Amino acid sequence: MKVLIIGGGVIGLLTALELSQAGCEVTLLDKQDFGQAASWAGGGILSTMYPWLYPDAVNGLARFGKAMYQQWQPLLQQATGLDIEINPSGMLILDEADFNTGLGWAAHDHDPQQTAQLLTDSALHSINPRLNSSISQGLWFPELANIRNPRLLKTLIAFLKLQPNVNMQAFTTVQRFDIKNNRISAVVDEHGKRWQADQYVIATGAWSGLLSEQFDWQVPVKPIQGQMILFKAPAQWLPTMVMHQGIYLIPRLDGHIVCGSSTDDVGFNTDVNIETGLKLQQTAYRLAPELQDMPRVHAWAGLRPSVPDGVPYIGQAPLGQTSQQSNLWLNCGHFRNGLVMAPASARLLKQQMLGETLMVDPTAYLPANRLGQNQPFKLM
Ligand SMILES: Cc1cc2nc3c(=O)[nH]c(=O)nc-3n(C[C@H](O)[C@H](O)[C@H](O)COP(=O)(O)OP(=O)(O)OC[C@H]3O[C@@H](n4cnc5c(N)ncnc54)[C@H](O)[C@@H]3O)c2cc1C
Repeated sequence: MKVLIIGGGVIGLLTALELSQAGCEVTLLDKQDFGQAASWAGGGILSTMYPWLYPDAVNGLARFGKAMYQQWQPLLQQATGLDIEINPSGMLILDEADFNTGLGWAAHDHDPQQTAQLLTDSALHSINPRLNSSISQGLWFPELANIRNPRLLKTLIAFLKLQPNVNMQAFTTVQRFDIKNNRISAVVDEHGKRWQADQYVIATGAWSGLLSEQFDWQVPVKPIQGQMILFKAPAQWLPTMVMHQGIYLIPRLDGHIVCGSSTDDVGFNTDVNIETGLKLQQTAYRLAPELQDMPRVHAWAGLRPSVPDGVPYIGQAPLGQTSQQSNLWLNCGHFRNGLVMAPASARLLKQQMLGETLMVDPTAYLPANRLGQNQPFKLM
């Protein structure tokens, strides 16, 4: 089967990985270089933030994130020599208002990857000695990890370039679809070149609404900007991830510390706002005061592909009256959780495309029932 995937962020790359490993001939197009958009800009926390706030459909894919990346890691590393850098740092959540809910959620969920315990005073500070000494309680999730997403993308790109059944074309913008008899017959790029395949996948993140304008439905994806700042500390300096009021510190294995993030509805703008950066910096200093001695080395912003209910669109898209004969598929709208949901999201799409047994009930993600419904956007 020949599959053409539009968009080479984490979702398109992992979809290409799944399909090419299953023997499909895959072409992957991106309007810029691969792995440069939201997937590069993100934090790489391998859990939803405050999981109790998210629908089951989101946690239901997110719970596979860490384990699936761990499964891919040796194959990717052996072929490319690159490490996707999963840091099993655990996470401290410091929002007192969430302690009981978080403990109840962890107890009820029984997910071995999401155990939680409340730590106080010396127990808390022995887990993370960099925490502000005025903080006396924290909810500890020891199994939570983060992945260094820029390294993940670099590794996936290098791996896919080695595969004889994968053709990757960067700097190729898909402008429209050619449709014949309710089937896509080709996509057309900005130079008028037609790219043909048997099946087509839209994995264009925050741009998925624009790309689907041509149909009688439109994926309700809206870009929501998130800004980040980066510090450099010695390796192991910050032992755990830390979260408070939606702002987090994420330690990388080499000592870099990512601090984010904002949620701003500013269209497709990725300019860094100095005031937002200063607010993130103040929060970072409040959480770990000695960070003031560490250099701040970078700042950036990326565009999350937000959808009204936060649940991604994974499955066959309608063409004409029906979606059953359609050769157009969606894998988009992962909002704040695309890096953690990507492995399961890509596998679920592959399983649907190849008629395999499905790893989870797909109903909540299927585009057919959801496109055309106008729901208000929630900034979870
Ligand atoms: C600041 C920030 C922090 C985040 N933190 C986390 C986190 O800790 N954990 C987590 O799980 N998620 C996190 N996310 C969310 C996550 O990054 C996204 O959900 C995920 O990267 C979306 O992946 P994607 O492949 O759909 O989109 P993208 O990475 O944006 O990729 C889409 C690609 O499509 C291409 N494209 C668009 N239109 C066209 C076209 N017409 N033709 C060809 N190519 C096209 C683009 O160039 C782009 O490369 C964060 C996001 C941000 C911005």
